[in-house]
Amino acid sequence: MATGVNCRSCGHAGLKPVLDLGRTPLADRLVSAAQLAEQEPAYPLQVAFCSQCSLLQIIETVPPEVLFCEDYPYYSSFSDALLRHSRDNVLDLIRRRDLGSQSLAVELASNDGYLLKNYVEAGIPVLGIDPAEGPAREAEKIGVRTLNTFFTVELAKRLAAEGRQADVIHGNNVLAHVADTNGFVGGIATLLKDGGVAVIEVPYVKDLIDHREFDTIYHEHLCYFSVTALDHLFRRHGLYLNEVKRLSIHGGSLRLYVEKVERVGPSMQELLALEAAERVDRIDFYHDFARRVEHLKAELLVLLRGLKADGRTIAAYGAAAKGATLINYVGIGRDLVDFVVDRNIHKQGKYMPGQHLPIFGPEKLLEAQPDFVLLLAWNFATEIIEQQAEYARRGGRFIVPVPVPRVV
Ligand SMILES: [Zn+2]
Repeated sequence: MATGVNCRSCGHAGLKPVLDLGRTPLADRLVSAAQLAEQEPAYPLQVAFCSQCSLLQIIETVPPEVLFCEDYPYYSSFSDALLRHSRDNVLDLIRRRDLGSQSLAVELASNDGYLLKNYVEAGIPVLGIDPAEGPAREAEKIGVRTLNTFFTVELAKRLAAEGRQADVIHGNNVLAHVADTNGFVGGIATLLKDGGVAVIEVPYVKDLIDHREFDTIYHEHLCYFSVTALDHLFRRHGLYLNEVKRLSIHGGSLRLYVEKVERVGPSMQELLALEAAERVDRIDFYHDFARRVEHLKAELLVLLRGLKADGRTIAAYGAAAKGATLINYVGIGRDLVDFVVDRNIHKQGKYMPGQHLPIFGPEKLLEAQPDFVLLLAWNFATEIIEQQAEYARRGGRFIVPVPVPRVV
């Protein structure tokens, strides 16, 4: 049965449903104490597959002004692993592309300048573009020039007309967030110099499905990309996905090197062949995903309820969007988890969407010393476990929920 909406990429009308996560609150909309009594906005969250261009996507589009408001609480600089990852990426590009004071590096969704600051330090001009006011202000403070607005093809045309085309365009975890997918990619084609490169990171749909990472599905993430789907999308705009790297960050991502000239390299050919072999470009690959996700929910509930029945206390780590998806879909309330901790001071003192678990700073783990900590931010498990060595030394244990719930 088709869903009645058109594909975000190719416009095909026959999208096939894959997974329904129900009506859920917005995963990044943390609740303040004053808002606890109010009704939270909730929207359907259904995933569907396009058999024409093989793009996995959600059906509902929540207006961006609702999703990415001034209160948008994500600040990239709160993760050490992400900072290292970004710095290595930039240094590699400066060397490979021979960038200098005449070059321009642009980042779309530049957040607090966590990535572009590496160019600034190397004397390379930058321009950040980000609609979230708080992070954009922080970026300006560290010398990262930032346009506080959405990236559109109109903005790209204006910049190009002003002679501000880019040698490198970064877009990390933003392509899946934009409602006008074709407008965004068309904007990249307009803003990029003929010899330039767009370096784009997206979560990889094959990792999502293989490892049951259903909690990376929320209203902000409109698309879940395969290389096959991306290839269709870029070619529509005269851009070529020539090189691709698989990365472990965020549970499995792709780093795409996109140019205006076609010179498809072996890394791209290999991944296209892998996707064809595993039928990532066919609905078969997604068929039992919903059933596997229901299993994970049941397994996690058995684990948590068993611990509670034994009189154990449980807290959670990571007030990020994926954590909100997980606790709301699985149904983890105050009866199972006492509180959530997060390093981001902008989140502390607020409550998780839907389940209203209170959020504290990580020091709360040593104060309360719960028996177990559920790692909602399992994509940063190594980093978090390292930082919480003292909690572990005092006997605390960690629960990793995905792909198989387990105590580590
Ligand atoms: Zn399509």
